[in-house]
Parts: sequence; structure tokens; C-alpha cells
Amino acid sequence: MMSLAKIDRPRLEFCHIPTPLEPLPRLTKHLGGPNIFVKRDDCTGLAGGGNKSRKLEYIFADVLKAEADVIVTQGDVQSNHVRQTSAAAARFGIECHGILGRRVEDTMPDFQFEKESGNVFLDNLFGAHLHYVPGDTDMDLALQEHAEALRRKGRKPYIIPGGGNTPLGAMGYVRCAHELLGQARDINLEIDHLVHTTGGTTTQVGLLVGLHSLQSSVNVYGVSSSKPKAVQEEKMKGLCADLMAFAGIDGEIPPETIVADSDFIGPAYGVPAKETIEAIELVARLEGILLDPVYTGKSMAGLIALIRRGHFKAGENVVYLHTGGTPALFAYTQSFDFNR
Ligand SMILES: *Cc1c(COP(=O)(O)O)cnc(C)c1O
Repeated sequence: MMSLAKIDRPRLEFCHIPTPLEPLPRLTKHLGGPNIFVKRDDCTGLAGGGNKSRKLEYIFADVLKAEADVIVTQGDVQSNHVRQTSAAAARFGIECHGILGRRVEDTMPDFQFEKESGNVFLDNLFGAHLHYVPGDTDMDLALQEHAEALRRKGRKPYIIPGGGNTPLGAMGYVRCAHELLGQARDINLEIDHLVHTTGGTTTQVGLLVGLHSLQSSVNVYGVSSSKPKAVQEEKMKGLCADLMAFAGIDGEIPPETIVADSDFIGPAYGVPAKETIEAIELVARLEGILLDPVYTGKSMAGLIALIRRGHFKAGENVVYLHTGGTPALFAYTQSFDFNR
């Protein structure tokens, strides 16, 4: 068993943590399967919350250390990461440039509407400088070029990769794993499964390494919002090894415990399936909790399907990690039909 202090890195403290761990009694009863709990990482604070806040506590410690005067980051148009980074940058008085890839351009019927709503509305509210690029842009190259242009103007840019997907960012979820098991211990809860959305996979990698450092046997189940199972699992194997080395932890994460399920992506990344919308409505109506159409609606649809398929044993305890994303709901109002 390894204490967090032994593997931790410097971070700033602006998250509202620990986030609550709450039972979902009405959803549990409705589905008639395992006991479902939610870890409310949609409540991490910082501009509506979400999983990027924990990552940014570590990344912004490095930003301040580097004495950067401008942050350059990227994401999809409705990026939660760009929104939360814009807010953190505002909080520390640092300019923020977001490069937004128009990946959903051809699937969003009304790009003008999307640019004015949800996360983009908030990016603008935080004073971020937004640059729209075509969907097929090499985003990492675009980050480098944008930073270089700023350097030529005498600025000191700090590049935050999309999604805050770095070993430092992953430390936010190593910390979350420690926090969650501490909370479970306090209420005498034995967690059997932890289900959540996996995108860039940093959250899952951080959780796996954090749980490993505690010798925990919780099964982590990532539901992919974008890429196929094999791609995600292969990527995570590499990133887990990287993070173990970064945190100075010996051993390896057993490959069979690195699980991604890509059956609930629906039509494409950023495009909700019918089941996505149904999951969002069900959780809203049974528990008064908001999910989103890009990430959490898909993993909740996955959790519901797994329960219906009998994936979990009776009496097991399943924690759903809510990774946030609710501001995107307002960019997707057209995906809902309340007059059915
Ligand atoms: C970014 C994001 C994810 C994916 O997190 P990763 O660490 O990249 O896997 C999941 N849910 C929401 C709401 C997000 O914004």
C-alpha cells in the first residue's frame, strides 16, 4: 500500500474536492441490478466542473512554475477541456488560446448555433481567444505552430495538450482513486466496479495506477466515447507503464485489467445515439442529475446495457464516475424531443 504523498506532485488547490460519493437509489431500483453509486466529478468546481479540473490542478502548478504568460491548448468545438482551461487561466490571470477543431461540423446542423452555445459560450465568457480550424487539422502540430507564432511576438507560451492528457494530468486521477477508496472505507462500502467514460484515456490510466498503488481489486470499466476498444486498450497499456514510471511505482498494471468497451459510441464521436439521449433523460428524471450527449450519456447507456445483460452479480456495488460535460447539453438541445 502506497501513500499518495509518496508519489504525489506539486499542485494548486482550486478543485472542490473531495467530490461527493452518493447512492442512486431510484436508478438502482428501476434497473433492478447492482447497487449504483455516483462519484460526482461533475462537481469539481471550476466553470461547471468535470474531470479536467483535477488534471488542471497539477498542470497549472507547472504553468506557474514555467512563468508562462499565455496558454495554448486545443479540443473539439464543444471541448470541456478548453472551457475548464479557459476558466483556470482567467483565475490565474493568464491569457488562454484555444484551437478548436470543427470535427462535428458536418454532423451539427447549425454550426453558428454551436459556436454560440454550451462550452463555446463559456470559453468566450472567460475571455479565451478561439481559433477554429478544419476537422482534419493535425492538432498537435497546430499547437506547436501557434505557440511558435506567439514566441516570435515575445510571448512565453505553455502548451497544454488536448484533454490535459499528460502524466501530470493523470496524477489528478491517481489522487481521485485515493479519495474514492477513502470515502468508501468511511461508509463501509466495498466497491466492486468503477464505470466511467474513457476518451483520451488519461482519467482511466490515472485511476488504474492509483488503485494499483492501493492494491485495490476494484474492476475499472471504461466506456469509450470515440475510439475502438483495441485502440484504447493498447494506448492505455503504454500510458499506464509511462505513468507508473513517472510516479516511481514498481510493477505493472495487469493488461487484463485494462478494459475499454466501444459498443456505445453510436454514430460517431460527438454524435449522440438514441440510447445516449434515453440514458440522459432517465438519469435526469430518476435522480435529478445531468449527463451530457458527448461523454457521460454514452457511458451511462453502457452501464444500463451491462446491467440489463446481467454483467454484474446481485448485491455488487458499482460506482459510476461522473466526468462532467453538462455545459455541452445546451449545444445539443436539438437532439431532444420532449413532444414525443
Ligand atoms: C474529457 C472528458 C472525458 C474523457 O476523459 P479522458 O481522461 O480523456 O479519458 C470524459 N468525460 C467528459 C465529460 C470529458 O469532458
